[in-house]
Amino acid sequence: MFRLSMKRRDGGEFSLNWDVANGRLTDSTGKRLHLPDGFAYAEPAVFCPAPATWPGDTARKIRRVEKLRIQLGLKCNYACAYCMQALDRDSDIRQRIDDADAFLANLNQWLEGEPREIEFWGGEPLVYWKILKPLGEALRQRFPDATFRIITNGSLMDAGKVEWLDRLGFMVSISHDGPGQHLRGPDPLDDPDTRDAILLLWRSIGRRFSFLSVLSMASYSPAALVRFFIDRTGDDTIPVAMEGMVTPHDVNGMMHAPMTEAEHRQIRRILFDEFRMPAVFSRSLVFSSLTAMIQSLAKGLPSHARGQSCGMDRPGILAVTLDGQVLVCQNVNQDKVIGSVHDFDSIRLTHSTSWHHRSECHACPVLASCGGSCMMVEGWERRVACDSAFSLGLARLALLLNVLTGAELVRIEGERIRFPGIARVDF
Ligand code: SF4
Ligand code: SF4
Repeated sequence: MFRLSMKRRDGGEFSLNWDVANGRLTDSTGKRLHLPDGFAYAEPAVFCPAPATWPGDTARKIRRVEKLRIQLGLKCNYACAYCMQALDRDSDIRQRIDDADAFLANLNQWLEGEPREIEFWGGEPLVYWKILKPLGEALRQRFPDATFRIITNGSLMDAGKVEWLDRLGFMVSISHDGPGQHLRGPDPLDDPDTRDAILLLWRSIGRRFSFLSVLSMASYSPAALVRFFIDRTGDDTIPVAMEGMVTPHDVNGMMHAPMTEAEHRQIRRILFDEFRMPAVFSRSLVFSSLTAMIQSLAKGLPSHARGQSCGMDRPGILAVTLDGQVLVCQNVNQDKVIGSVHDFDSIRLTHSTSWHHRSECHACPVLASCGGSCMMVEGWERRVACDSAFSLGLARLALLLNVLTGAELVRIEGERIRFPGIARVDF
């Protein structure tokens, strides 16, 4: 249980109680806070525990796949400074067009039912166009109702690919860091033809389109991010979503993450202040996580029912290569293979420790929005990733509290806040 100290605009102070384990946010009398219009508290319910995994007790996968993440390979025409795939690129599993044929031919042997969602991942997935095109078409024919998703750096977009993505009903995210794009590579919006193709995509697929950004020390102002895309597209309705703060997987990633307490406090303050600006607040980069947090409160979702935020600990979310190797997730390759679809029952989620086996997450006031950061990261990188996730999580929690009460979060107190010896965090 955490005690949240809040300050009203008139200077008046009050406190709230935040019971993360039971998903209850209450005032000092124990009464739950009033939810915004459109939300209502649900009747108390019993929730199934989320599957937990760690190397001593590895989780399994199920054949009735809910979300299928197909990894086409790690080839990429960009070299993002914080890319976690860079570590694995040399050991990339090479994929050929024949592999796609075999993948489709073998699908019935291991997959049960129709996935709700199919994602196509690289590297840069459009580098694999010759494989992606027939694969996507065959899967669309087979699974007409599945949601198709792709994340691309946009640099290879052209009118033909736009028509194809639209026809197959794809949701498309263009990974682009706005003012921090120099960490990723060239800006595809600088090339007039590519920019035209990206804008054509937006006009064609509408709300199935978004720019998707990672925050880093090079770019952590949500307002600057939104302004960048409005200026470059000339459209003030352009959708902008956010992946989160950079999660370092190696020393390169660490160089772009906040490291000092002063940097963290500055980032939290800027995030909180700018999240509330109308042009930022109305976009998915704020709205989707805020809505999810309010829905969790409304349901009274206890922490034991929460999995990792990326979902890769869930039995029904499966990352596969075309030759049937199952991976921890779509971002890794050869060294993080966890089994094969051809020996499905032996698949075990190795290389991973979910938040349920991390003591700091059990003592964390932002678990609800963070979800434990990456379950593969360990050591010093894990600590830096956790600190970054904590700052973003605090800004999101402060926004939620502001929306619910109109007041600002001043500090959080508890017996232990993430790590032993920390009983107070000033926002
Ligand atoms: S911020 Fe850190 S401690 Fe908190 S849930 Fe995320 S990873 Fe766990
Ligand atoms: S395990 Fe989850 S958080 Fe970590 S890299 Fe994979 S998808 Fe991302």
